Amino acid sequence: MSQKPEYNFDVIVIGGGASGMMAAGRCAELNKKVLMIEKNRELGKKLKITGGGRCNITNAEYDTRVLLKNYGAAEQFLYSPFAQFGVKESFDFFEKRGLPLVIQARKRAFPQTEKALDVFRVLEKNLKNGRITIKTNSPVTKILKNGNKITGIKVAGEKKEIYTAHSYILATGGASHPETGSTGDGFNWLRDLGHNVKSPTEAIVPLSVEDAWIKSLSGISIPCMKITFYVDGVKKFSKTGKLLFTHFGLSGPLILNCAQKVGDLLHTGSVTAKIDIFPDLDESKLEKKILKVFDENKNKMFKNILGEIVPDGTTKAILSLLKNAKSPDTKVHSVTKETRKNLIATLKALPASITGLMGFDRAVIADGGVDLAEIDMKTMRSKIFENLFITGDLLHIQRQSGGFSLQICWTTGYIAGSNA
Ligand SMILES: Cc1cc2nc3c(=O)[nH]c(=O)nc-3n(C[C@H](O)[C@H](O)[C@H](O)COP(=O)(O)OP(=O)(O)OC[C@H]3O[C@@H](n4cnc5c(N)ncnc54)[C@H](O)[C@@H]3O)c2cc1C
Repeated sequence: MSQKPEYNFDVIVIGGGASGMMAAGRCAELNKKVLMIEKNRELGKKLKITGGGRCNITNAEYDTRVLLKNYGAAEQFLYSPFAQFGVKESFDFFEKRGLPLVIQARKRAFPQTEKALDVFRVLEKNLKNGRITIKTNSPVTKILKNGNKITGIKVAGEKKEIYTAHSYILATGGASHPETGSTGDGFNWLRDLGHNVKSPTEAIVPLSVEDAWIKSLSGISIPCMKITFYVDGVKKFSKTGKLLFTHFGLSGPLILNCAQKVGDLLHTGSVTAKIDIFPDLDESKLEKKILKVFDENKNKMFKNILGEIVPDGTTKAILSLLKNAKSPDTKVHSVTKETRKNLIATLKALPASITGLMGFDRAVIADGGVDLAEIDMKTMRSKIFENLFITGDLLHIQRQSGGFSLQICWTTGYIAGSNA
């Protein structure tokens, strides 16, 4: 094994994404000699596209008990790490480094500049303290072990040299958006090392549909809609929120947050959905709204005034769904009660046939990862290997969209960095 100082470190951090950068910065702050090793040419490739380039950096829920409800079965494991470095500490970390954060709907926190690149720059600057060697374009190919210790790593193209350290932080991410570098390497190594790793499934991911009317609305988003899912015609669950129509189906926070459950439903039968575009109005209130528009436009054509009732850009698609709307050229004063009732029924239950979840390439996160029972959550240390620490998307933690994933990276990265 090479003993040359350029191959020997206090800590090696494998993976230069959100959690790895946080961890490496913390190690260096504690005066450790650190090697950060990344397979891409650049660090933080995924971080730079988070939140559509705006980076939903965390969720400003300061009550840890309430916050941790968003992590499903992982909740019980997260009290200890969040007591050390939680949402408040994340706010302080970024704001003290010159990045003010703002809080938007559903407590989602963003950098005031709304640029993910600015979040990356804070972490990048934090790495520049002279104690960290950054090696990019260097895929790690092998992790070496002896007994219950990791003894070194090998890097592609460097057949002879072995990089060694006192401690190793594994931060290679999950399996979503593999073009960013997260190709699931860490899952394979951890499995080989004897850890119990749940296979990833796409977790926060859009839905594909077969309905032409949905695809025709590609690009339109509506702030508040209710969607109800059915299996073989039997109602399963409903959720309300912002929905985005795309050229392949349905997306937006509402859908991303339903995806995990819908993924399960797809295994049990044929999944359909009904979308209510007026969740705040019951049928009689919606009828009043429609009658008011009709009264004000008696002599206009039905198809020309529908736009005053339905969300912008959706008129044509909704007309295509109306049963018995014999002629959309009908004057409003001639619209029958039957057509009016049919319009109400349609607006409260637009149909969708769900054909599947979009794949890993469109997933915001893929779940799966190391069973938390195998990690000492106070330190993020593996319970199998005494000098191995595991962070971020490598951990099996289910979560919704809303800043909850990156918060896991800040928390686990900081704690691994403090203890490695
Ligand atoms: C499109 C999209 C938008 C998102 N938006 C948000 C958001 O707004 N808010 C939020 O909270 N979460 C968001 N997420 C989730 C969030 O980005 C991830 O949870 C987070 O990036 C995970 O960080 P990580 O450090 O675990 O791994 P990653 O950021 O995936 O980093 C892992 C790094 O390890 C490197 N690597 C992998 N294998 C090797 C190897 N063999 N050798 C060396 N290096 C290796 C990779 O190249 C990569 O750079 C989004 C995800 C996606 C895909």
